[in-house]
Amino acid sequence: MVSTPPVPDYIESCYFCPRNVRVGGARNPDYQSVFVFDNDHPCVGPDAPRSLERPAGIYRNAPANGVARVVCYTPKHNATLAELPVAAIADLLRAWRDQYLELGARPEISHVLTFENKGEVVGVSNPHPHGQIYATNFVFKTIETEAAASRRHHQDHGRALFRDIIRAEQDDGRRILFESESAIVFLPYFARYAYECYVAPKETHASLATMTPDEVDALAAALKSLLVRYDNLWQQSFPYVLTLHQAPTDGADYSGFHFHIEIHPPLRKPHLLKYLAGPEVGGGNFLSDTRPESKAEELRAVSDVHYKAQHE
Ligand SMILES: [Zn+2]
Ligand SMILES: [Zn+2]
Repeated sequence: MVSTPPVPDYIESCYFCPRNVRVGGARNPDYQSVFVFDNDHPCVGPDAPRSLERPAGIYRNAPANGVARVVCYTPKHNATLAELPVAAIADLLRAWRDQYLELGARPEISHVLTFENKGEVVGVSNPHPHGQIYATNFVFKTIETEAAASRRHHQDHGRALFRDIIRAEQDDGRRILFESESAIVFLPYFARYAYECYVAPKETHASLATMTPDEVDALAAALKSLLVRYDNLWQQSFPYVLTLHQAPTDGADYSGFHFHIEIHPPLRKPHLLKYLAGPEVGGGNFLSDTRPESKAEELRAVSDVHYKAQHE
């Protein structure tokens, strides 16, 4: 068996490691836990053009601007979110909450999108554990759709839509991967990707901002249990897109909006990507060739102790 040399916890050429100089010229501090900084290659920035040329005909446009930040989860280059202790994941949740509060309070910011792209198949070049934040003057489409559906459901039934989703999952039970007093993890009935999972508090909170310290700790434990199972499934670091779905910060009424974390892993098998093709890109509907119940069963069958920690 060919063994690859272990990756060290510090890399001199990494822009995210402590004490290193980034592309923009700034030097990272000797940080010990979570470290947040403005993205040196912002996708949205304060310098975005304000006056745009009007497109021809029926086309329309509007200036997009905001703040893009990078969130390093840990100084350890060779760690992953799944391998961090629950307490460190809770620290990250608090850092995400602080960013949501700080950026969301700005009058020009309508929405704070917090996400992590993980793995080379998702296009991540630097494996140092990190995520990103796009705080923008517009609301991202999926959140806008969810907010509208949540508002409608709340008006019609007086209940949060996501609470009814949780109840349906509990009534069925086959797709629940983890449940504690205040947090739940499930692979939903409507999953589009084979291993798509949701992690959420059981009480309705529009964002991390109103959660109690106990609820944040419980959410960290729930998230950890899922990420460990992902890695244990094929004994490899599991690629995914992880996104926080928090209420927009544009001042509208979001009662009925229930904060949750969505995780979309692109792999169907160890080296097999789910390609979006004819039905998805061409037709606009997701075709899933796996049953969510059997995928949930696979994840439930593996240990919730990380495989790397099992051999220590
Ligand atoms: Zn690094
Ligand atoms: Zn969502």
